[in-house]
Amino acid sequence: MKNPEKRYAKELASMIKYPTIAGVSGSDRVFHRFRKKMTSFFPHILEKCDILDFDGSFLIKLKGSKNTNLPSLIMSHHDVVEAYGDWKYPPFSGTIADGRVWGRGAIDNKAMFWGMMRAVDDFIAEGHVPESDLYIVTTCDEEIAGSGAKLIAKYLNDSGIKLRLVLDEGGMIVTDVMPGLTGHYAMLGVTEKRICDVRFTARGAGGHASVPSKNTPLARLASFVSEVEANDIYYM
Ligand SMILES: [Zn+2]
Repeated sequence: MKNPEKRYAKELASMIKYPTIAGVSGSDRVFHRFRKKMTSFFPHILEKCDILDFDGSFLIKLKGSKNTNLPSLIMSHHDVVEAYGDWKYPPFSGTIADGRVWGRGAIDNKAMFWGMMRAVDDFIAEGHVPESDLYIVTTCDEEIAGSGAKLIAKYLNDSGIKLRLVLDEGGMIVTDVMPGLTGHYAMLGVTEKRICDVRFTARGAGGHASVPSKNTPLARLASFVSEVEANDIYYM
């Protein structure tokens, strides 16, 4: 297809128009409508792939021709978080302006969801078959740490399916990302951050709450936290 950008932008924009907010009342209906839209956008995936439904999260398998290698898996999610605050364009309008698609989920994570689905659907439409099985996962409850990914992981494990490669949601295109790096960068995540809990302890002499002294452990801890935050040493 020649210059498909406009069609692609419109497709992504139309996905953003569905407020697929996990865990809020009425979201079941929205997810249902969203899934119907998915099937109309990606007919080749529907026709050629095996699709398993795990309470609204999907494991999609495109069969390989040789399977000399282990399968690969690409994954994403199609739920979003709520959209509070001020927005340049309404969060679920899917506005296309300034050469961009705007809205809740444009980055996290409908662009990636749509990108992988579009790539595989076009791949099939052009008559290609992968050498090894390809799995696609898209979950509907990633933002609330729901059961979709766990159910699919359990299924893969129980089925004895081992994977050669897993690609998950990652970075985005960012500008002037850190001091010394100017311009646009497509961020490739090679690992995922985890939670790190650090405990700080401040001690002080005992006393009585009716005559509090200055510079108590609480005040020193507060000033330490404030200093860390002010110096940006935890934030890229
Ligand atoms: Zn995400």
